[in-house]
Order: sequence, then C-alpha cells, then structure tokens
Amino acid sequence: VEIGERSNNEIAIDVGKMCLGEYGRQEGELLFLRRAPLKRQEVWRREGVAPRGVDREIVEIMHRTHIGVDQDYKSLLRQGVRAAIGDGWGGSMIATELQDILFGTPTPILGRANLGVLEKDQVNIIIHGHEPLLSEMIVAAAQDPEMVELAKSKGASGINLSGMCCTANEILMRHGVPIAGNFLQQELAITTGAVDAMVVDVQCIFQSVATVAECYHTKIITTSPKAKIPGAMHIEFDEHNAMASARAIVKTAIDNFPNRGSNIEIPEEQTYQIAGFSHETINYLLGGVYRASYRPLNDNIINGRIRGVAGVVGCNNARVQHNYGHIEMVKELIKNDVAVVTTGCNAIACAEAGLLLPEAAAKYAGEGLASVCETVGIPPVLHMGSCVDNSRILMAAAAMVKDGGLGDDISDLPVAGAAPEWMSEKAISIGQYFVASGVYTVFGVNWPTLGSDEVTDYLFKDF
Ligand code: SF4
Repeated sequence: VEIGERSNNEIAIDVGKMCLGEYGRQEGELLFLRRAPLKRQEVWRREGVAPRGVDREIVEIMHRTHIGVDQDYKSLLRQGVRAAIGDGWGGSMIATELQDILFGTPTPILGRANLGVLEKDQVNIIIHGHEPLLSEMIVAAAQDPEMVELAKSKGASGINLSGMCCTANEILMRHGVPIAGNFLQQELAITTGAVDAMVVDVQCIFQSVATVAECYHTKIITTSPKAKIPGAMHIEFDEHNAMASARAIVKTAIDNFPNRGSNIEIPEEQTYQIAGFSHETINYLLGGVYRASYRPLNDNIINGRIRGVAGVVGCNNARVQHNYGHIEMVKELIKNDVAVVTTGCNAIACAEAGLLLPEAAAKYAGEGLASVCETVGIPPVLHMGSCVDNSRILMAAAAMVKDGGLGDDISDLPVAGAAPEWMSEKAISIGQYFVASGVYTVFGVNWPTLGSDEVTDYLFKDF
C-alpha cells in the first residue's frame, strides 16, 4: 500500500480492500502467512497446506464433504488443516488487526467479572455475542447524557452495561466494561430478573434464551440479519448508521425498565481482573519502551524460572461443572511454573476464579513464575482477548522464535495449547491451526473422531 503524502483515511481504504481481498483470494498464498517463522512456512509449502484464500479453502472443504466427493479421510483431514491455517493466520488474524486499527490495541485495564456486576437500580443491558462493532456503538450510546436522563426519567439511577462471552472480552479489553459471565451463564443472567435487555449478534447464543426470557421481563434483541431467534425482537444493526441502531437498542432497554417484576435476585459474586494483554503490550511490558521484546521471557525459560507457556482457551461445556476444567488446568499449570495466556470463555473463568490479578502469582504460581510475575508486575495468567484473538497467541509464539535461543520454529518452543471445555465448531478449527503451527495441543471432555479408531489413530499418531 502506497503511503506517500496520502491521508490516513486514503491509506486505510486501501488496507481494508487488501485485507478483504485475502478472504476472496483464489490463487497464490495468504499474505499474512509471512508472519510465521520461515521454517513453519516451509513446512506448510512442503505439505501443500499453505492456504490460497480464507474463503476458498472453506468452500473447497464444503465441496469435498458433499456426498460422493472426497472419500479418503487422510485427504479430507489435510484440507481441514489448510482451511484451519486460513482461519488462524488469515481470517482471525486479519480481524484482530483491523479491530485494533479501528478501536485501539488493548492495553492493561482493570475490570470486574461475574453476575454480581449487574445493578439492581440501573437499566442493565447485556451485550452477548462476538462482533465488536455493535458493542463499541452501544458503549457509546449508553454513555450519551440524553440516554442517561431518559433512564432516570423511568426511575433508574443510570445505565449499566455488561458483556457476555467474547463480546464481553472485546469491550472489557478496550473500555473496562464488566463481564456478567461466560457461555454457561447466559440463562442465569436472565433469571436474576434484573436484565432489561440482552442484545445478541452472532455465535454462542443459546437457543433457549428467548424461552427463558418469557418468564421474566427481559427483551432479547437480535441484531444480525444472519442470526434471528423466534420469540426475540429484531433491531438490525446497520453499520452505515451505527449510532442510530445503537441508540434504538439502548432506548428499548430503558423503556423496558419499568416492566421489571418483583422477583429480582442478583448474586453478590464478582471479582476484579486485569485484562488487555495484547501481543504488543506483552512485548512492551517485558522489554520496556526502548527495547520492546520477548527476550526476558525467553531468558527466563532458558534459566529455568519459567518452564514454558500454555495458551488455555475456549468454551464452557455443559458436560462438566461450570468452569471446572478451565480452572483446574490453569491452576496446575501455573503451580508448575508454566505461564498461561488465555482468551474466550477460559479468560472469563479465570477472571471469576481471581487468577487474572498480579497477586494471584504469589497465591497460586510456582516460585519461579511468581518471581518473574512480581518483577514485571503482571498476573500469572494473561488475558489476551476473545476467541478471534487467538491469533495474538500465534503472534506471541512467532515473536518468541524471532527473539532466539529457543529454536527456529514454533514446534521447538516449550509451548502448548488447550481447550479444556471446548464445544463450538470453531474450536476445532482453532485447535487445528495451533497443531498446524507446531503447538502441542490438548482438548478436553470429548473428541468428534472417537467413533472411528482408524481416523483417531491417524490423527493422533501419524498426522
Ligand atoms: S470461547 Fe467458545 S463458548 Fe465462549 S464465546 Fe468463544 S466460541 Fe463461544
């Protein structure tokens, strides 16, 4: 993209067009693959899995799985790898970069988590889903003095925004908006009787939310033309008129405040957390303003204070006690001097367990990790964002390789990935792009290929 004397907006339009072009690209290779260590790029080329375009690989895997097309599981799995790399080093990474350009790269910020963040005397709006554009606008609309006055005219003392699932992580990272809960807490939030509107966009919205809301006064508001729910009201979010859509949503919640029943019960539980550890911020915190780098991390791995880094991420799974898989694994890792980076619902679970605070290092971490956390002033578990932001973990791993001393490829690093309670389809893609990037990866609860010994053996032993 030509920079020259052009304005930021002109440059931004070209960057945007190029990024969108990566999704529709039909030939060659995704540009963002060049961010991976050279050795890893060579592996992808050698194996014929370097993605040509984000959408192209998805369309191809859909064709191959159509009846009567690709009948060799080895060939199907290989194309799955190609599509997954296109997600991690393409679609997700581009989305994270563009969000950071539009809304700012996250930096450490204080927040709160759990259902106790709901306020009895305020209009409670929960933003639930994944798209930060909508939530950014609702944050702005809820702070509009006109809206606050309207809320007061209805008997509320103000407007209280909170987030759920990955939208929660986005608005926490950039605005410190509290998190009401993760995936398995969405119905529970409604049953407090204090949620005046739950605004949803895409992904991870329970099919039951509208039915549960019928027992209370809560309005479920769908906003995406791609995701409608019977029984919910629909206020379409129009990006070209974003503030008007956001104001209409906030006003609907305010108008609903007087309809609350007397059955309000908000649990007291809430915890503090520090979030906002983007790859760039970790770089700066470790290396300082003049020499931002991962050098101190690599050095502390080499001298044995830290045994490695684990990315523990992903969903809640209803087949295990809420957050149990996440918290047990993360506590065990930090106790054994493994630093943890986290995203998605694991990050929210860790926040609720008090693991995202610097003082958690002294309480839960092994001696070596605790000493490093104390010196740098960071928690032993670093919140890096939403599930889309798993690409930040890839960037951190690539930076560790670049800083040297631990090997030439991500597969040489003492790093691991885990989704202890995964359940969504995209978790499979995320897990696969971690594996394809050279990361030892573990999934909890169950595994979809267990019905076939042949596929499972191939996947875990030979692949
Ligand atoms: S981590 Fe899983 S459950 Fe949680 S928001 Fe992301 S995809 Fe949904």
